[in-house]
Amino acid sequence: MIARLTSYMASFFTRRRPRRNQRPRQHKRPGRRLFLAHSLKLFTAALGLLAARSVLKPSPALAISTPLSIQQVADGIYLHVGRHERPSPQNRGDIANIAFIVGDERVLVFDSGYAPYLGSSLKAAVASITDKPIAYVITSHIHPDHIFGNSALQAPDVTFIGHKDLPTAFKHVGPYYLRGLADNIGTQAATGAQLVPPSLLVDLNKPLVLDLGGRSVRIEAWKPAHTHADVTAFDDKSGVLLTGDLVFVSHVPTFDGSTLGWIGALKAMRTYQCKGILPGHGKASIGNQWTQPIDAMLTYLTTVVTDVRALIARNATIDEAVKQAAQSQKKNWLLFDDYHPGNVTFAFAELEWE
Ligand SMILES: [Zn+2]
Repeated sequence: MIARLTSYMASFFTRRRPRRNQRPRQHKRPGRRLFLAHSLKLFTAALGLLAARSVLKPSPALAISTPLSIQQVADGIYLHVGRHERPSPQNRGDIANIAFIVGDERVLVFDSGYAPYLGSSLKAAVASITDKPIAYVITSHIHPDHIFGNSALQAPDVTFIGHKDLPTAFKHVGPYYLRGLADNIGTQAATGAQLVPPSLLVDLNKPLVLDLGGRSVRIEAWKPAHTHADVTAFDDKSGVLLTGDLVFVSHVPTFDGSTLGWIGALKAMRTYQCKGILPGHGKASIGNQWTQPIDAMLTYLTTVVTDVRALIARNATIDEAVKQAAQSQKKNWLLFDDYHPGNVTFAFAELEWE
């Protein structure tokens, strides 16, 4: 149990370190030897837990917000597409997608962005479309570019929803993300940031159906894939699936859960009766070609797995794997040099014990 938990926690620390301009680390030695070091980092992060909440205090500036730029992608479904960039004070963390679904009675938000001001701008965007209240905020997974807008969405009638294992992730890596936030997106953009974990949890194989009035949205929890706690949302009225980071478009995927599990999840998703998908990064894919981004993801992931397995079979080191695996995919993805080395490192640690 302890080993399993350590592995779980360590996986969060091997990826997506939110320090600005820091490349993914390329470990010289394979996975399990790193766990002790990761556990020490976890302990350090835990020490910061109590201090973290008071680091960034809410500011009156949050009340003044221009509406987020949004596009209607289907009837009652709106999307803000983040930039394909690493977080920086220049882009103020506007690097991930934010979406909402408007029902006859209530509004559902799916991910709130990297910063409180994005949550405030989202509220202004919702108010520009409807006078119905935001009732549900879905947090698709733990990564910081999807969670800190929650800070501005807290209200008595708002329910925050996520995967059954998401609170554990909030507890273990949330303080780390919070402490690094101002460094990553700038002090002003980070103003008011808090960790807002879900209070309503979704179990595996037990989807949660939310009635927005005139439409219902099914929230589904996945086994480890992009992270250890991913959820998706399917809108029955439009047939659109909001995937969170289970699907990346243009932006190279980032590994933080299970490479093999992710391939399985994408194959399952591909069989759904959908009319479109909204990814966690990149443009929506609506219409007959909606599976195209999933196929691109599968090509990338299976190429990484195939190449890494072959390198392991030849007793290659992680450094050699990072230089060689899936380089054929470089032309297909933005931010490849930023995240692909970390992906190969992650896959290597996962696959060397097969
Ligand atoms: Zn993510």
